Amino acid sequence: MALERVTILGSTGSIGVSTLDVLARDPERFEVHALTAQSNVEKLAEQCLAHRPAVAVMVDPEAGAALRDLLQRAGVGTEVRVGVDALIEVVSGPEVDVVMAAIVGAAGLLPTLAAAEAGKRLLLANKEALVMSGALLIDAVARSGAKLLPVDSEHNAIFQCLPEAYTCGDAMHSCGAEGIWLTASGGPFRERPLDRFGEITPEEACAHPNWDMGRKISVDSATMMNKGLEVIEARWLFALEPEAIRVVLHPQSVVHSMVAYTDGSVLAQLGNPDMRTPIAHTLAWPRRMGSGVSPLDLFAVGRLDFTPPSSERFPCLALAYHALEAGGTATTILNAANEVAVEAFLDRRISFPTIAQGIAATLDAVTSSPADSLEGILAADAEARDYAGHWVNRYGHRP
Ligand code: NAD
Ligand code: MG
Repeated sequence: MALERVTILGSTGSIGVSTLDVLARDPERFEVHALTAQSNVEKLAEQCLAHRPAVAVMVDPEAGAALRDLLQRAGVGTEVRVGVDALIEVVSGPEVDVVMAAIVGAAGLLPTLAAAEAGKRLLLANKEALVMSGALLIDAVARSGAKLLPVDSEHNAIFQCLPEAYTCGDAMHSCGAEGIWLTASGGPFRERPLDRFGEITPEEACAHPNWDMGRKISVDSATMMNKGLEVIEARWLFALEPEAIRVVLHPQSVVHSMVAYTDGSVLAQLGNPDMRTPIAHTLAWPRRMGSGVSPLDLFAVGRLDFTPPSSERFPCLALAYHALEAGGTATTILNAANEVAVEAFLDRRISFPTIAQGIAATLDAVTSSPADSLEGILAADAEARDYAGHWVNRYGHRP
């Protein structure tokens, strides 16, 4: 079997590191073509030494120069490129077969879209790309013949519960599926008294009980905006109406999501909460490979609980459904406002409950338009960021 050449967008992040861990388990099948990062010189240098990619991309030019120096001194032949254009190059050329899209946030949109347009096998972790511009991304995949495989654990679970012939972007109903259950752990504040939400610190919000993740998605999990973004992600991946997507709290994070069929069957995918399972699934699909994840011990798990999420505790979830129902660029606006608010919270400029308030204010103030062009989407993103930034400065309550 021919070697598959892989580019990892965001290789220094949580998903990027796990992807390298899995790839290295089958060197006969996978070769690393390019690794990319925003500015973490030390980590990218360490990864280049261990995995010897042909190319390394650093978005920040100064960090790129430092990386070039380091690698030259270490005698590593990896070519260092800098800037956003270089991200597009390393996902588009004929020397790449597989792209792992694991940049966090809107910054991942352009290279993810480029990989879709270039017809690659696209392993999608960067859910914000679909939330911002689901229709464009799904159209690009359909036009180019790219193979889109979901990495997000819930969507990967749903994909695994669908027939093998199913293609992401097609209506799930054609396989006899009626709807899905997206499971959510409820994050670190599932049981904290609501009158103590104002005291929540970034450190507490980033300490997820079950998953080890980057800071932005950790805060999204704590507000449950992560589940909201995943509802929108599911709408595009599986061509579902919002009413067919239900969210259930499941604090053990063992059932990763479920598909309900017309005959009353509900299929679930289970496993330990470790992203190397969905990553290995998308890398090896339609076969299987070892991932390093320990086997699920059902006796140790003992019980599985399922309860409905509280809208009072998790207002971000309703905001996401609201944006999805509004359509057009409303989900782009939601995503941009969330990124601005989460960054402000992590910088201790606003309190935890203010995140949802800032997003709601931005959705009210910025008018959505049809999401039918990249220019329109980027304009909505910029306008929402601008509004949310001003809102945070003006109304943000310092913690
Ligand atoms: P992270 O913060 O750990 O890593 C982010 C990566 O993106 C880093 O390599 C960083 O260098 C790069 N990056 C950041 N800003 C950039 C920019 N402006 N330009 C180019 N590169 C940039 O994030 P993560 O937890 O690995 O998450 C990555 C994506 O995967 C997110 O979209 C997240 O929602 C999704 N995801 C993550 C998990 C998880 O368990 N971590 C699970 C499901 C989905
Ligand atoms: Mg998820």
